[in-house]
Amino acid sequence: MALPTLVDPRKLANQGIVLEGNFEAKHLPRLASAVVSIESPLSASITFEIDAIKAKVASGSLAVSVKTICQRCLDPVEIALKTDFAVQIIWSEDQISNVSSDREPWIVGDKMADLSEMLEDEILLALPLVNYHESGECTGDTFLPQDEHSSAVEEDQVVADNPFNILRQLKK
Ligand SMILES: [Zn+2]
Repeated sequence: MALPTLVDPRKLANQGIVLEGNFEAKHLPRLASAVVSIESPLSASITFEIDAIKAKVASGSLAVSVKTICQRCLDPVEIALKTDFAVQIIWSEDQISNVSSDREPWIVGDKMADLSEMLEDEILLALPLVNYHESGECTGDTFLPQDEHSSAVEEDQVVADNPFNILRQLKK
């Protein structure tokens, strides 16, 4: 089931709603630009509720498969991203001090909020900065240990493969 992109999170919390479903990759543009490709819809289970001190909160779990570059062999590697999250819905940054330390703030200044954007933030936090194949599945193992020359070439390729660097080069 497709999740709604726009939700009224305070109303959902008041009603104690649980949302379960998927976002297609087209709703995740920042994740798409951070990886080679998104291999599955983002699946999510989100529980909205009022906590013991009357704060409006949402928590749940997320999973998505992406392809990124293995930093050892520079071939694509598929990784299954999974993360649990817990957020507290607040009106503005002024209220960040009210957010308990085991939650992140979800600033919702209007009635409606973009659910896909919040979940995309959470999955981006779960994306490791560098990724590798499992040992044994990585062709880069064959070339270890490397001499200085080959590792220098590899670093150049890493720079070119990073989508942000390619973007930067296009802008020049
Ligand atoms: Zn590899």
